[in-house]
Amino acid sequence: MGTIKDLVDLATQLANSAEGRKITSELLKIQQLTLALQSEQASLHETNIELREERQQLRDTIRTLEAKVQDMSARTGSGPTDIPLCPNCSTTSRPFYMSPLPPDFIDVLNATHECPKCKYTSRSKP
Ligand SMILES: [Zn+2]
Repeated sequence: MGTIKDLVDLATQLANSAEGRKITSELLKIQQLTLALQSEQASLHETNIELREERQQLRDTIRTLEAKVQDMSARTGSGPTDIPLCPNCSTTSRPFYMSPLPPDFIDVLNATHECPKCKYTSRSKP
């Protein structure tokens, strides 16, 4: 901002000097351009502030999302591999997961999971 003000002052000084009077119209043009430059700079400055704020918001969002992802992966542990697959209904390309049995059935059937399709039961590793 200071540089632009110096430029305007210098142009004014020149326009007022004896030498400068011969080129007054050119000096006025320079002053107008300088003022235009100043308003452009002001709007750039504003945009810069907006972008900084937006960048900060995005950083905060990223931090929140990263925390969520970490929390979710910590909760799921090793993922759906903990759920037993039915050996009858699973194919190599498509695993068929078994459903957990209600707690009352675990001792009766000596199993923790049942295949919802073929009713095969199994006990998952503790
Ligand atoms: Zn099955």
